[in-house]
Amino acid sequence: MLDTIPGQERAMAFMQSAAERPHHAYVLAGPEGSGKSLAARAFAAALLCRRGGCGECRDCRLALKDQHPNEFLVEPEGRDIHVDTIREEVWTPASRTAPEPGRKIFVIRESDRLSPAAADTLLKVLEEPPADTVFLLMSARAHELPETIRSRCHTVSFAALSEAFVVEVLMAEGIDETHALLAARLTGGNLGRARRLATSEDGLAFRDAAVEALDQAARGPTGALAAADLVIVAAATYKKGLKAELEQELSPFLDQKGRPEDVYRGAIRRIETRFQRRERRAERDYVDWVLLAVSSLLRDRVAGQVGSPRADLLNPDLALSPDLSIVRATRGFAGVEEARAALAEDLNLNTRLVLERAFLALAEIAA
Ligand SMILES: [Zn+2]
Repeated sequence: MLDTIPGQERAMAFMQSAAERPHHAYVLAGPEGSGKSLAARAFAAALLCRRGGCGECRDCRLALKDQHPNEFLVEPEGRDIHVDTIREEVWTPASRTAPEPGRKIFVIRESDRLSPAAADTLLKVLEEPPADTVFLLMSARAHELPETIRSRCHTVSFAALSEAFVVEVLMAEGIDETHALLAARLTGGNLGRARRLATSEDGLAFRDAAVEALDQAARGPTGALAAADLVIVAAATYKKGLKAELEQELSPFLDQKGRPEDVYRGAIRRIETRFQRRERRAERDYVDWVLLAVSSLLRDRVAGQVGSPRADLLNPDLALSPDLSIVRATRGFAGVEEARAALAEDLNLNTRLVLERAFLALAEIAA
């Protein structure tokens, strides 16, 4: 299992030998999309599987989907990981018996976002780790983790992946070349995001929304407001579509009549909580995809005008509309990236206002 994590041979060789006699805590350090989640899942499977990670048994299959009842996944709620989350989702279950026989695995995503109080609570657990429990702390900014925590973990480093490599992985997973290339380019070689884009039910609808919004914005201020509106509507539609995914995720834990099986109540609750978080983020995520696509379209106009070959464009499958000067396209590109940064930084911002401002600026540039 562990030798299948692409592009990270050194990290995986380390984890493979670690799986035989695991230390109680690891930091998986590396840039976004470098395969840390993939590695954590394979490692969890190796630790939970009776055959050391065969990839085929029930333990492996559930672990590879982050759905094993003995696996506890913690993510930021809003910007931070709060102390209550660590108490309820780490401290308490760590001191209890595992739902199923075998090890317990705690995976803490974006662990550099632990609040100081949350980090203190986690440190107490790491200082006296319960038997048969393994903690995996993931981070793209591992240097921001408190030294007291880092010193209790083994660090495994992941390097950034190349675009060619991301395309190859996605194609091996059955995604066609156009989609794979587009997803890899739009996400700058971030494998996790590229896969989400490429496998999303939404397909390329987010980019269609971007093309349409950009056309609208070019028509002036009224068009700009319409563009913001169409992005908001597309994001809301996307959020609605997520419901079906929850039902699918829960199905392994329901009995034949569709009722939750008693032993899995905890696992079901955790999947639901994680889903609610995702749902809360869904609209923001989608707006970000659309803005990312708008950026890529503007960037392609610049590239087209300086004579870049078609194969080097971010959207090599689309015809270029050469109606913006380089200076204007560059300014528009900067404005959209500013909007993305603002939305990522401050979860309380009014999305519609940020979008309207970005598209009004584009309208002015196109005029
Ligand atoms: Zn297995």
